[in-house]
Amino acid sequence: MARERLYLFDTTLRDGAQTNGVDFTLADKLAIAGMLDELGVDYVEAGYPGANPIDTSFFSERRPMRARVTAFGMTRRPGRSASNDPGLVALLDAQADAICFVAKSWDYHVRIALETTEEENLAAIRDSVGAAKAKGREVLLDCEHFFDGYKANPAYALACAKAAYDEGARWVVLCDTNGGALPHEVEDIVGEVCKVIPGDRVGIHAHNDTEQAVANSFAAIRAGARQIQGTLNGLGERCGNANLVSIIPTLKLKPEYADKFEINVSDAALGCIVRISHGLDELLNRAPDRHAPYVGESAFATKAGIHASAIVKEPKTYEHIAPERVGNKRKLLVSDQAGRSNVLAELERIGLSLDKDDPRVTRLLDEVKEREAIGYAYEAADASFELLARRMLGQVPHYFDVEKFDVNIEQRNNAKGERVTVSQAVVKIKVGDEELISVAEGIGPVNALDLALRKDLGKYQSFITGLTLTDYRVRILNGGTQAVTRVLIESTDETGEHWRTVGVSANIIDASFQALMDSIVYKLMKSGAPA
Ligand SMILES: [Zn+2]
Repeated sequence: MARERLYLFDTTLRDGAQTNGVDFTLADKLAIAGMLDELGVDYVEAGYPGANPIDTSFFSERRPMRARVTAFGMTRRPGRSASNDPGLVALLDAQADAICFVAKSWDYHVRIALETTEEENLAAIRDSVGAAKAKGREVLLDCEHFFDGYKANPAYALACAKAAYDEGARWVVLCDTNGGALPHEVEDIVGEVCKVIPGDRVGIHAHNDTEQAVANSFAAIRAGARQIQGTLNGLGERCGNANLVSIIPTLKLKPEYADKFEINVSDAALGCIVRISHGLDELLNRAPDRHAPYVGESAFATKAGIHASAIVKEPKTYEHIAPERVGNKRKLLVSDQAGRSNVLAELERIGLSLDKDDPRVTRLLDEVKEREAIGYAYEAADASFELLARRMLGQVPHYFDVEKFDVNIEQRNNAKGERVTVSQAVVKIKVGDEELISVAEGIGPVNALDLALRKDLGKYQSFITGLTLTDYRVRILNGGTQAVTRVLIESTDETGEHWRTVGVSANIIDASFQALMDSIVYKLMKSGAPA
């Protein structure tokens, strides 16, 4: 049976730009548009030309893409003609394939917010859609507050949608603008709309204020709508928009949808969705949500021992999809609760196959348990675990020794007479027979130590040039009689791989030193630095 086409409309660059703390530059917008195009969404709504200089410059030239570049804006203002409304004229001149108008569809808003008549609002919809059609643009109408409007006055809400449809709009999009609608309401109301407007002309735009934006989007699809609007990682005002990163895998992998519908996202692109989701976080300088469905680092992570042994035997027992389909990885957490099977599975993941009865597995498990008892956390430090395992097997070359280090913090007046705090680190290392001394100043003592450590590794220096630290977290643990500090460091390199290392000590500098050393040694090992 031929599958029906379902269209994806992304508004990360428009509605997503309303997210608290998000400020896209033009370069950000172009980079994100590229990711969306790679993913295969049908429409990229890139902004509101005329509303700010960045959006205006985005639409000042053609942006060649597979997706249809869409400009957003308001219908003509009440009491003006379409040609006499500068906002509308700017929108019509934008270099875009499609124009998405937003219009009121709740009679209460028409009266109170727009201060006009119901008939004038309908006329504004008709005139604006007509003007954009005449310019050769594909036209969409976002019916703002549609669900609340429909509950208050179904005839008027429908009349707004119908006015756009009759005028030739390609899509009439039903918006749950304040995000308060529930799935059964959405399903009922979209069902009613689809009796009047064909479903393949109807879209859904859901907000996440009851954490049901994804569910509401699927409810609309079940009721007949054929366009879903959403954003990458659910970015958006307040609690966000429907998360396309959750919607796309469900559409592709769950037979209820996959058997019926076709989307423009290929299997190969689906396999890149983790990278795309994390790429956006990277650009926003945010840590990815570990617990995000499908793409989170914990989405396929299992902790308890009995589950882990079942997963090794038969992954389907505890996984709803194969993690590889979305470019994610199965992860069995090594922790103090873990059994032998966790350690074995983790060893296999890093490419070390040991027999389950090998005494070294018992030794490693004992070592992990002992270290976790004093504060180490290996489930959050994959690279330190790998080093621990490989050291036990004699597979970690001895690269260099740190003979001594010295970190010093000084507060004094600088040449301008300002009070400043300066951190300086001196590190003495030995690479083979060569002794090297490096000195560095840093923003803080750990930064100074890191800079000094990585300043001169002699013959190994070229192997660590791409190494950067991306996250540094400190936790004070109250274990036994004295507090200890656990430091977790996340690093990355030119290949884009991320790894985490851990250090524990009563002294924060020492804990940081251990984690830094593990990160450097891990990088040397993975770069194939010779012993
Ligand atoms: Zn919205």
